[in-house]
Amino acid sequence: MVYRAEYLWIDGSEPTREIRSKTKILADGDEPGIWGYDGSSTNQATGDNSDVVLQPVFQCPDPIRGGNDILVLCETALTADQSPHPTNTRAAAREAFDKYGDQEPWFGLEQEYTLINPGTGWPAGFPPNGFPAPQGPYYCGVGALKIHGRDLIEEHTSACIAAGLKISGTNAEVMPGQWEFQIGPADTVEVGDHMWIARYLLFRLAENHGVEVSIEAKPMKGDWNGAGMHTNFSTKAMRESYDPIIAACEAMGAPGKPEEHLAGYGVGIEDRLTGAHETQRFDQFSYGVSDRGASIRIPWQVAQDGKGYIEDRRPNANADPYVLATLLTNTVCEALAK
Ligand code: ADP
Ligand code: MN
Ligand code: MN
Ligand code: MN
Repeated sequence: MVYRAEYLWIDGSEPTREIRSKTKILADGDEPGIWGYDGSSTNQATGDNSDVVLQPVFQCPDPIRGGNDILVLCETALTADQSPHPTNTRAAAREAFDKYGDQEPWFGLEQEYTLINPGTGWPAGFPPNGFPAPQGPYYCGVGALKIHGRDLIEEHTSACIAAGLKISGTNAEVMPGQWEFQIGPADTVEVGDHMWIARYLLFRLAENHGVEVSIEAKPMKGDWNGAGMHTNFSTKAMRESYDPIIAACEAMGAPGKPEEHLAGYGVGIEDRLTGAHETQRFDQFSYGVSDRGASIRIPWQVAQDGKGYIEDRRPNANADPYVLATLLTNTVCEALAK
């Protein structure tokens, strides 16, 4: 008998990386080993030297196929010496975690996204000509006029649970057709692994519903909320007392740090971080308790308890979770190590 392994990897698409996959049939008892693909078709190689190596790094049950079938997340590597491909951002996340894992960094990522009607190219719930009623009733709403695509969201949540991913919740968002799911708490590497697989499951299940998923940061210009990936972060010290919480915020605001972080927080950050729609402007840095207009929010409960985590509200929905987890781990853990 045989089973199927769906190999997943992250491509070299610009400006936003995308997930790719292909299927390998394996005899029962055989492990999914090293594999490869045509990197000239994924913006990762030239035609004359096209092979890119797939190194399996994480596997879980395939909740769509069921049975013994599995998903196999891979790192990409160069054929010459098996070193990480230049587009392999997981390698840097591994290094950061090797260096600072003793501080036990945890992440919770809030992935916002927009369902797009492929017929009209507009978000689900937007009429072909004109606009839906202004924002207000949609966030966490209930009812057919407010909610579009719930069947897909329920399927996706069930699939993530069946795959054993650390999904921690879902909700309908402020703009019609916009949703969120959260992955976490998980460490610097695991949060990216689980997020990329959760994205794969979402895009894949959406095929069955005839909708496209967009993680664009500002799919509708004007008075419509953008899509972010709020990044909740803590270390063991931050989960135990308040001084490290403030030290973490100060480290994120140190000279040069806001620019360094924004460069890794996804494409189109200036369009989304306008200072309106519950954001701080991209060219300003601030932190505050309960402040949804700050770059970093200290949740009210965290201030009450005198310990917990911080929420970096700046990352875009289209950010690479490995990149932002690497940035936060290095910036905060380096400061807290002193
Ligand atoms: P919001 O109130 O901003 O909408 P959510 O409930 O959507 O927040 O997401 C919060 C995320 O933070 C969840 O994924 C949760 O698992 C995660 N989280 C909770 N505690 C911590 C912690 N100490 N460190 C890091 N992440 C955490
Ligand atoms: Mn949320
Ligand atoms: Mn949200
Ligand atoms: Mn949030």
